[in-house]
Parts: sequence; C-alpha cells; structure tokens
Amino acid sequence: MAESSSGLASITQGCLDHWVIEAKARTYAGRLPDYIPLLAKANPQWVAIAIKQTSGLDWEAGDRQQPFALMSVIKPFLLLFLLEKLGFQAVFSRVGMEPSDQPFHSLAQLRQDRGFPRNPMINSGALVLASLLPGEDGATCAESLRQWLNLYAGSNLFLDQAMLASVRSLTNEANSALANFLAKTSHLAPIAQTLDTYNHICCLSGTVTDLAKLGLLLVGHSRISPVSSRTVNALMMTCGLYEASGRFAVQVGLPTKSGVSGALLSVVPGQGAIACYSPAIDQTGNSIAGLFLLEQLAQTLNLSVFA
Ligand code: GLN
Repeated sequence: MAESSSGLASITQGCLDHWVIEAKARTYAGRLPDYIPLLAKANPQWVAIAIKQTSGLDWEAGDRQQPFALMSVIKPFLLLFLLEKLGFQAVFSRVGMEPSDQPFHSLAQLRQDRGFPRNPMINSGALVLASLLPGEDGATCAESLRQWLNLYAGSNLFLDQAMLASVRSLTNEANSALANFLAKTSHLAPIAQTLDTYNHICCLSGTVTDLAKLGLLLVGHSRISPVSSRTVNALMMTCGLYEASGRFAVQVGLPTKSGVSGALLSVVPGQGAIACYSPAIDQTGNSIAGLFLLEQLAQTLNLSVFA
C-alpha cells in the first residue's frame, strides 16, 4: 500500500487492484436506476478505474473495457465547451453558480429560483446550456460537442443509440416538468429540441479511459483557457455531487462529477484525473464503489486540495 505517500504519482498497481476488489464487495449496498431501462440491465458488480497523470503516466484496474453512458458527467464538459465557445458572460447570464441541496431534477428548486437554474450541474441548468449548443436538432448539437471533446481530449466518445432509445422509451416526467417551467419563465425555447439535445448528450458514451482523458481537459490543458477550467472545477467542487457535494468536499476534497449510470470523474489539480465506473448508486445518484475508490485514493495519497 502507498502509506504516508503524497500525490497521484505514488499510486501502485497493487494498491489499485486491491481497492477495486474491496469496492466490488461494497456494490451490494447500491441500486440500479430503473427510470432508464437499459441502466437497470448493467451488472451492479462492474467496477473500473482509470487514472491519467499530466506527466503521461497511466493506471487502470477492474472492468475497464466496459463502455457506459456518461449521463450527468457530460455536464461539466457541456459547460466547458460553451465557456470556450461563447464566453463567461453569455453562459452565466443563463445559469447560476450556487449549490443546491435538492436532488438533481428538483422542480421545487427551480420554482424557488423563479426559473433561473441555480447551477450547470443540475438538470435545469444543463437543459438551458444544452439549448445553446450549435446545431439544428438534438443529434447535430450532440455531435458538435462529441467531435470537439474527442478532438481536444483524444477520447473516443460515441453516441450509444440503444441507450438513447431506452431514455426515450419512458417519459422523463421530471425533466419535462423542468423544461416546461423553464419555457414558462422565458428561460428556455424550444422545449422538445432542448430535451432531445439533453438526452443525446447524456448518451455520449465511452470507457473509463475516455473519461480520464476528458478529465485532463480540466488540468492545465494547453488548448483550454485557465478561466474556463477553473470555473468548471469550482462548480464541480461545489455542485458536482448534488446535495452530497459539501460532505464530499470534506471527505475527498477534489472537484468531482457523478452520473446516474455510475460514472464518476475527479480532477486532481496540477496532477491528473481519476475516472471511475460502477453502476450501483446510492440515494443521491452517486456510484457507491466509485465514491469508495475516490475516498481511498484521496486519503492515502493526500489528494485533497484543502490539505
Ligand atoms: N439523463 C439523466 C437524467 O436526466 C442524467 C441524470 C444524472 O446522471 N444524474 O435523469
């Protein structure tokens, strides 16, 4: 084990393999979401991790060949893309920067905020930002984002058509209600295309290796403006795990974003990125095994930015 060591560089393969086995044993405590039928078909015991350092060193363990839909982990990258393309003012005239203690699809939060989404990491904020993507329909908007990310990150993201069909197979009442309220308060139009774009970008998919590559865009990447990456990292830290964000900042202390598919991405400023995938999630919608792995890494390697 990497006792009393500091930084991502001190990780060992033995340590990582050991934690993945321990993480697998914890997956029983989670559940698979059923409001997207295909997510409920995942193997709850899958656990994968990929670590990429800015130095070029990589570590991987577990079921790392398994692709998965990014779901809400796309939100920081939607934000990053729009910050780079449209700028800070254009983005934050449409969405706030404050954390929410409500679930990610909360209509109560949006009502309280009179239709101005509180932050880009919850569904209302991502819906508004999705409506700003260039393209004439959901597919072309998602394609703009996918191509940009693959070009800049060197990832191999693809649109999972089966997952998209599954998302569309059941009406997502919560997201429809958010989009309707946004439209009623003049914060969004047109509703159907925005929901379709949002559904498409949530179905952009890849492996933990792809997700770790995306993470490196937020760690001093030469083609990304420091203001954009700093902004995204700050919002991941304060809002990325929804109502669990405060506790996670204390326990792990890394900018992190979760998705309901069990995807989890942490940025280690100045050092690299950690991507996890394990589909069994907790009540808040965060991967149980992923959170365990991040806690082990952060505590053993002293990764917290607040250290
Ligand atoms: N597509 C999902 C939804 O809107 C994404 C949510 C998530 O990953 N937390 O419900």
